[in-house]
Amino acid sequence: MNLSKSLYTRAIQCPKSLWLKKYKPEVLTPPDESAKAVFETGNVVGDLACELFAGGKEVPYSKNYDEMIATTQRLIDEGVEYIYEATFNYGGILVMVDVLHVKGCEVSLYEVKSSTGLKDIYLHDVSIQYYVLAHLGFCVKEAYVVHVNNSYLRGDELDLKELFCVVDVSEEVRALQHDIPSHLSEFKAYLDDKENEPDIEIGKHCKSPYECDAKEYCWKIQRNIPEYSVFNIFNLGSKKQIELYEQGIVDIKDVPEDFAMTPKQSSAVQNYKSGETHIHVKAIKEFCESLSYPLYHLDFETYQQAVPLFKGISPYQQIPFQYSLHVEHSDGVLEHYEFLADVGVDPRRALAEQLVKNIPLHVNTLAYNMSFEKGVIKRLAEQFEDLSEHLMHIHENMKDLMTPFQKKHFVTPSMQGSYSIKYVLPALVPEFEKAYKELEGIQNGSQAMRAFASLHVKSEQEQKEIRKQLLAYCELDTLAMVKILKKLKEV
Ligand code: SF4
Repeated sequence: MNLSKSLYTRAIQCPKSLWLKKYKPEVLTPPDESAKAVFETGNVVGDLACELFAGGKEVPYSKNYDEMIATTQRLIDEGVEYIYEATFNYGGILVMVDVLHVKGCEVSLYEVKSSTGLKDIYLHDVSIQYYVLAHLGFCVKEAYVVHVNNSYLRGDELDLKELFCVVDVSEEVRALQHDIPSHLSEFKAYLDDKENEPDIEIGKHCKSPYECDAKEYCWKIQRNIPEYSVFNIFNLGSKKQIELYEQGIVDIKDVPEDFAMTPKQSSAVQNYKSGETHIHVKAIKEFCESLSYPLYHLDFETYQQAVPLFKGISPYQQIPFQYSLHVEHSDGVLEHYEFLADVGVDPRRALAEQLVKNIPLHVNTLAYNMSFEKGVIKRLAEQFEDLSEHLMHIHENMKDLMTPFQKKHFVTPSMQGSYSIKYVLPALVPEFEKAYKELEGIQNGSQAMRAFASLHVKSEQEQKEIRKQLLAYCELDTLAMVKILKKLKEV
């Protein structure tokens, strides 16, 4: 059997996924931009983690794995203490150990992850490495997972010992050894039957621990699960979704009246079944009247760094690099302000300074899902003491445009039970969907995040173009808020 550790963990999630990867890869969805970004982050974190184990030697990557295995053996023979990407094969199972610590006749293995915690699937990942090494006759002393510590706050210098958590998983991994032979023979049986695709039902395992790249195929093509189904009932949870699916219920219209759900889920289902729009006019009027003018519509764009490059930043902290601000006067006149950070510098100070210039004291600032904007502003206030009072004033006077939708005061079936702006905007202001689609290049927040994060590797001309796209995109976000509010005022 030819199996790598990534194929092993794939099969642990679902053996059909392994079979498809081997024999029908054309049905798998190729990795999108964000999956590629996660992969790149993994590489950066992996390289940095090696510095924790200084003085080691790396086994250069080669398509010829025998060469990598031979190099590994040579490095062991030469007495190298830390070997990065140490490669082994036992019975067709190929593993590359991120960091192998060789001490005398004992070895310890380290698996590096760019996430911020330990997950069960990592134990399977380490356990197959342990299995291979143990069967090759190594005495495996310990096994570790190295992951990013998101409570680390960077000082002037990067402190690798603080940036990473090294977790001893030896005990858990040893406990898993017993099950590996039966897993392997199960996977082998599936793979031996090349003609017949495994008959495995869809379920929770399609999303966890990873979103399966065969979902489009298994769900949409094989089982005709529509775009909107019981799997989209807001916050219903996988267990209940599967419960309905196992009863043969896919269409929301078929959800039984007595099916146990929260009041919000029930009302979303009822709303969908009735096909009617529900508007609580009094509550919406109260919300609109609670806003003072001029009103400041604010939207931040942020990005994250797995490895913090600037002082005072934690791994994966949201770093604001851009905002758009539409100031709406009581007569409907709009003014627009914006900020977009320079490349390669910590954007926070310049952004905070301009924000307090653009938003005066004693005004209402409106955001959609304001907890995000509030979180950004609070962190800026903590960072910059001299601006703190003004920033916290903005923070205290924020209002949330999401409230009427979250409280179900305005519900239409096309919102699909959600109050996310992704659903609310096309339901209320359909023409804006087109406006986003007509934007050149950047059309959503994650594209904006990636575009800004990669600006430093672009040419001057490309940077100019991307900056134009970022500004156009963010401006549309706050303009969309103005339009949503206008619709609410019209009810
Ligand atoms: S989509 Fe689900 S059933 Fe299909 S291969 Fe993936 S995990 Fe297995």
